[in-house]
Amino acid sequence: MVFILKPGVSQEKIDCFIRSWEAKGFSTILSVGTEHTAVCLLGNTAAVDLEHVVQTSGIVEYGRRVTEQYKAVNRTVHTDDTLIPVGNAVIGEGSFTVIAGPCSVESEEQIIKVAESVKASGAKLLRGGAFKPRTSPYSFQGIGADGLNLLLEAKKATGLPIVSEIMNQTQIPLFEDIDVIQIGARNMQNFDLLKAVGQLKKPVLLKRGLANSIEELLMSAEYIMSEGNDQIILCERGIRTFETMTRNTLDLSAVVLLKQKSHLPVIVDPSHATGIRSLVAPLSKAVLAVGADGLLVEVHNDPAHALCDGGQSLDPGQFAGLMETLKTRATVEKKLI
Ligand code: PEP
Ligand code: MN
Repeated sequence: MVFILKPGVSQEKIDCFIRSWEAKGFSTILSVGTEHTAVCLLGNTAAVDLEHVVQTSGIVEYGRRVTEQYKAVNRTVHTDDTLIPVGNAVIGEGSFTVIAGPCSVESEEQIIKVAESVKASGAKLLRGGAFKPRTSPYSFQGIGADGLNLLLEAKKATGLPIVSEIMNQTQIPLFEDIDVIQIGARNMQNFDLLKAVGQLKKPVLLKRGLANSIEELLMSAEYIMSEGNDQIILCERGIRTFETMTRNTLDLSAVVLLKQKSHLPVIVDPSHATGIRSLVAPLSKAVLAVGADGLLVEVHNDPAHALCDGGQSLDPGQFAGLMETLKTRATVEKKLI
């Protein structure tokens, strides 16, 4: 249940209102927006008489039941778009933020080369995997903590903030200097990990699971936000369907629905969605057109020799071409790129 407060209510009255609900055993979320302030009640609200609260509290303009299970990430509770500042970028409505880099960090030379080239083309963040979740234990697993250190070298060289994937909560100390923590598709419902990153003061890039619904993705974001971290970027990266010609099936309708249902920014990863290099640029244009807040693209300096996901990686020239196209289209969409 969410209560929209009258304009200009004092903080003291809001605190008192919140305390009265917490005394009755409810948890609350206070959401301060540009249009209004709202208090959301969490718990069994079946017996709460909404009209009675509106009439007696003195500070509530109107109330509404939130039927969805996700509350903190729900646009009904928090109507303003969440904006996430990272480095020179602000991820969220009004911008189209491109995050680029290799599937895996392989060497200093490789990551610096990629970082310099994607920066020159207009990427705002550098992404590289240090710990890789691979289907086979015999596949390249990433270079681990050394990879994170090389990413930080690339940050020093270019100024680009870093995104990298965490595999479990024991790795959190290693990610202290990493700007954005990625939770990969396979970990989308690792609830202990979600709770642990929820306690950090650092943006989290949460990818949709291979076989998870839009609602499940929102519930996973809810896990993070209910621990106190509201800096969450949702990422659509394709889902498993009967189709075998692409690695996954890119669900563009999820982007629109997520933006309607939640206030969180939504980006798309066309590289893992398709697994096919030649599909990445055409779909990236669709991603911009459909209203996403950004893109996560795999770029490798030498895709033919990449240790992981070379077949879906753009080379720096192809990435530069894509960025030129996106920049032209971003003006039509009134987005900053
Ligand atoms: C990745 O981003 O490198 C990755 C492994 O993607 P996903 O978790 O979407 O499969
Ligand atoms: Mn990859």
